[in-house]
Amino acid sequence: MIQRDTVELSDQQRLVRDSIREICADFNEAYWRERDRNGEYPYEFADALAEHGWFGALIPEEYGGAGMGTPETVVMMEEIAASGGGFSAAQSVHGGIYNSVSLVEYGSEDLKNDLLPKVASGEVSIQAFGLTEPNAGSDSTAIETRARKEGEEYVIDGQKIWTSRVDASDYLVLMARTTPREDVEKRTRGISMFLVDIDEALSNGALEIEPIEKTASNAVHSYECWFEGLRVPEDRLIGEEGRGFYQMLDGLNEERLVIAAECVGLGEAALDAGVAYANQREVFGRSIGTNQAIQHPLAAAYARVQAAKAVVYNGADAAASESGVDLGARANVAKYLASEAAFEAADAAVQTHGGFGIAREYDVERYFREARLTRLVPITQQLALNFLGENVLGMERSY
Ligand SMILES: Cc1cc2nc3c(=O)[nH]c(=O)nc-3n(C[C@H](O)[C@H](O)[C@H](O)COP(=O)(O)OP(=O)(O)OC[C@H]3O[C@@H](n4cnc5c(N)ncnc54)[C@H](O)[C@@H]3O)c2cc1C
Repeated sequence: MIQRDTVELSDQQRLVRDSIREICADFNEAYWRERDRNGEYPYEFADALAEHGWFGALIPEEYGGAGMGTPETVVMMEEIAASGGGFSAAQSVHGGIYNSVSLVEYGSEDLKNDLLPKVASGEVSIQAFGLTEPNAGSDSTAIETRARKEGEEYVIDGQKIWTSRVDASDYLVLMARTTPREDVEKRTRGISMFLVDIDEALSNGALEIEPIEKTASNAVHSYECWFEGLRVPEDRLIGEEGRGFYQMLDGLNEERLVIAAECVGLGEAALDAGVAYANQREVFGRSIGTNQAIQHPLAAAYARVQAAKAVVYNGADAAASESGVDLGARANVAKYLASEAAFEAADAAVQTHGGFGIAREYDVERYFREARLTRLVPITQQLALNFLGENVLGMERSY
């Protein structure tokens, strides 16, 4: 095993690390390889986390949750990814942990009292979040899905794409325009956040879904979704009508730090596999790891993964300290660096394996596909750099 305990952890973080390591020990690389190969959602893993209350990590104790924050969640998700599950393992449960945050912050007391204890106990899941549309990805305020008020209901029509974990979720947090873009002063206004009962919508015929065939993270399914005349009771509006985009942004930086932690874990898993193979494989009568052409790419990637990790943990501490630091800058730096480091680590691990680098049984090809994906989601690397260029370095926005 490569050296991974490289940042100072609090007692609480150490507890999280040890508990998650214990759970993940029951799900080895072969488990994740099979889920990826067969395109099967890891229900056993999600159930194990649910059983130990981990879906309530960010839910306050008064609603039955663990009342944790970003410093603990980065540990949790890094551990899950580093265990051999990679980015997919973390992503298989990420939504279930994060989608309740908007509910905690903006949901009505009735909704919170009804749902949050069930989410915390694992009885109910809010794993899916639908923002992206065919014509609105990076430009997310361009969404066209409409919600019109009719009496005590909203009627929703439109289309989403890439909505993940719809099949593993009871509820979908859906972003829709309550005021068209051309009628609002700022494009970030006029978007609202709804809680949609997925089974009900499917059985009413108001929601149709189609899985998207993809090449990475096969265990976590993403869908194209069509909504036609979907009726959502007004008490399922989360927060304020027209303020949904701002509600979504609130907490986004902390979530981005956690995704960066998932990339760090993925990079560590890849390096672990690469180093183990380098030490074991003999070519020309000696172990390939004795060649510096093998050692250096792994060592350089290790340095970059650890540097990204330091930025992630530093950002997570800042998020909890409420010291007024610019979390947007830290989160985007962390996500950018962690994705690049994970990609470099996975690439070095594949190269170390020679031809076996693309054989499924060695896992590094799975990590490589996932590392490529981390440069695209939840926002692309270019958009993270746009944020830094415009909001941190003060350069002009061109689009
Ligand atoms: C596996 C997977 C799971 C996903 N899960 C979800 C989910 O659960 N819910 C959800 O809502 N969405 C989800 N997404 C969608 C994801 O958030 C979008 O794919 C992402 O935001 C990019 O949008 P896009 O694919 O439409 O790319 P586009 O916006 O079409 O961009 C295409 C390219 O142009 C570049 N580009 C565009 N504008 C600029 C600019 N101004 N400056 C520089 N470069 C620019 C982009 O960086 C990118 O490289 C998922 C995507 C994937 C692949």
